[in-house]
Amino acid sequence: MPSTQVPYFSFRNFPVGIDQQVEEAVLRAVRGQQYILGEEVSVFESEFAAYVQADTAIGVGNGYDALVVALKAVGIGAGDEVIVPANTFIATVNAVVQVGAIPVLAEPDRHTCNLTAAGATEHITPRTKAIIPVHLYGQACEMTSILRLAEQHDLTIVEDFAQAQGARYKGRPVGSFGRISATSFYPTKNLGALGDGGAVVTSDPALAAFAEMYHNYGQQQKYHNQLVGINSRLDTLLAAALRIKLQHLDALNSDRQRLAQVYLHALQGIGDLVLPVTAPDCTHVYHIFHIRTKQRNALQLYLTEQGIQTAIHYPVPVHLQEAYTWLGHKRGSFPVAEELAEMSLSLPLFPGMSETEQKAVLAAIHTFFERHG
Ligand SMILES: *Cc1c(COP(=O)(O)O)cnc(C)c1O
Repeated sequence: MPSTQVPYFSFRNFPVGIDQQVEEAVLRAVRGQQYILGEEVSVFESEFAAYVQADTAIGVGNGYDALVVALKAVGIGAGDEVIVPANTFIATVNAVVQVGAIPVLAEPDRHTCNLTAAGATEHITPRTKAIIPVHLYGQACEMTSILRLAEQHDLTIVEDFAQAQGARYKGRPVGSFGRISATSFYPTKNLGALGDGGAVVTSDPALAAFAEMYHNYGQQQKYHNQLVGINSRLDTLLAAALRIKLQHLDALNSDRQRLAQVYLHALQGIGDLVLPVTAPDCTHVYHIFHIRTKQRNALQLYLTEQGIQTAIHYPVPVHLQEAYTWLGHKRGSFPVAEELAEMSLSLPLFPGMSETEQKAVLAAIHTFFERHG
């Protein structure tokens, strides 16, 4: 009989007391009766911008909308090509299509799994307008070479840091490198809300002014519309909760990093396991603890039988999704992304995960490889 049930992700009262703080903040916002925008949202926006070391943050309805608003702000539209990593979450790619542009997939680095300048270079054409470095799994992309490439070809960098709030590159927070950046506050993200939420971040006043209008019907002031915008706003109740979570983000990330170190140490040299690699100058906040093995499916099945939940990020790479057959790629077009889809497994990791839970995961993995070589 399996002894310890381990969820892939679970909300825990970590750091101790955070649940009560969040509940009190939400209650305060409920009683404030300012349900749309208002002070709670604008204060969170300022605090989040300060955290990212950017001038302005604009709360929006979710991470996908944040990407759409960001792409619109920098003028990406019909016929433009935007380079995205072939192994990203589908939202990054869909946002490019949503603004009328063409997503151009690039292979990630086989070690860090992130987009690199080397991977992006070969896809640059006269129509390329932007690159979206996605700080996947929680690790910062190597930004110096990506920024240099963008400068050489006059391209715009739009960061997707939905998986990496709090990660840094050369000491600077991700989200502060692009002309504009997008993030998500989906509940299980490192900075998670109590529902869908997201933000656009920039230090360019013109882009900030555009985003500020565009996400709220294009209005400059109430009922005075300067452009045809959308409705995508961060809810006041969620902003109240996010203000508390943001105060604890570094502590939440530290716990993820501590758990990751335990995994990294204990899984060294087991079977054919490939463990996460952190590139020089990059930090990793382990949104996902991602391992690779040729026996992925068997390992996942075994762990499930032992009561241990895992996940796969992501089982089907973008170019093999039915929704993207029109891009004209086939199996074999992106070998690294395809190998990742076949070999990747994400282990349980969340702030407040107990030692007992982590030991159960490690014991099960050890047993599996003792039996399966
Ligand atoms: C979660 C995520 C998004 C989208 O966020 P939503 O809030 O779910 O719309 C975009 N990009 C990446 C890399 C993500 O992980």
